[in-house]
Amino acid sequence: MTTIENKFPGKDVSDDDLRTKLRLTAKANPGHRSRFTVAGVEFGGDLVPVFAGPNMVESESLIVDIAKAVKRAGAHFLRGGAFKPLTFPYRSAKYAETREEGIAWLARAKAVAGIPVITEIMEEKYIPLVAGVADILQIGARNMQNYPLIVACARTGKPIMLKRHFGCSLRDWLGAAEYILAEGNEKVILCERGISAPHTHRATSRFLLDLQVVPAAQEVTHLPIVVDPSHATFWRAWVAPMALASVAAGADGVMIEVHPDPPNAAVDPLQPVDYAEFKDIMGRMDAVARAVGRKVLA
Ligand code: PEP
Ligand code: MN
Repeated sequence: MTTIENKFPGKDVSDDDLRTKLRLTAKANPGHRSRFTVAGVEFGGDLVPVFAGPNMVESESLIVDIAKAVKRAGAHFLRGGAFKPLTFPYRSAKYAETREEGIAWLARAKAVAGIPVITEIMEEKYIPLVAGVADILQIGARNMQNYPLIVACARTGKPIMLKRHFGCSLRDWLGAAEYILAEGNEKVILCERGISAPHTHRATSRFLLDLQVVPAAQEVTHLPIVVDPSHATFWRAWVAPMALASVAAGADGVMIEVHPDPPNAAVDPLQPVDYAEFKDIMGRMDAVARAVGRKVLA
């Protein structure tokens, strides 16, 4: 059958891509969805797991406090970066990656609060350190097509969350996911985090949440897809509506930045929500999830 995809191969995911290039990432049949468990939390089923925490792991006391707060509100994973792809090279006492120390603080927060952890990995040489603490390795948007890094991460056998680069097509994104699956690692989670677009609605906003990619991805791949409205909107007031919309659109998970004192967050202070707002968003996401046959809270 000639489909529009066959007439314009290469623009986005074509029938030929699904057969020959996305052998493991493509759905085998229309109902095919990956279901797997990470640290006792199921992905791809009725539950919509939530990853919550600060942009950066700033200090031990802060990450322990946030871990307890997000766990209390029902979050399934603690997020936070110790190795950060910061946009500019200059550092101050506050604006500086916490690196090895940050990973140790994440380990402490995980143990104290009893919550699994997702954190970014930027360089192959830190894989043993980061994989020793993280339950999920996060590949940041900027490294989505860093194939040596993602292949090395895949070989650890750890679950991997692959954030979508802000300038790439669904086809490029799934191609990168295929590299992980081709290593025999099947625990792959996609994450939409906003794309670069000319109109981002505020001088402060950098990205546009591509919510349409949720059903678009689910049409062609069995992999779960998480949405990160915090990075996408870069604006606190838009996080709750876009988080609710993500769940309504069928997202298989949501990542939300949470900080006890948002304006004083070391990185991206315009985007985190505070504890009270996070708790409120959790309840509202659960209500939306139940309306579409899923749940956020147990
Ligand atoms: C993050 O999640 O901390 C992050 C840096 O996100 P992204 O790679 O999507 O910019
Ligand atoms: Mn950021």
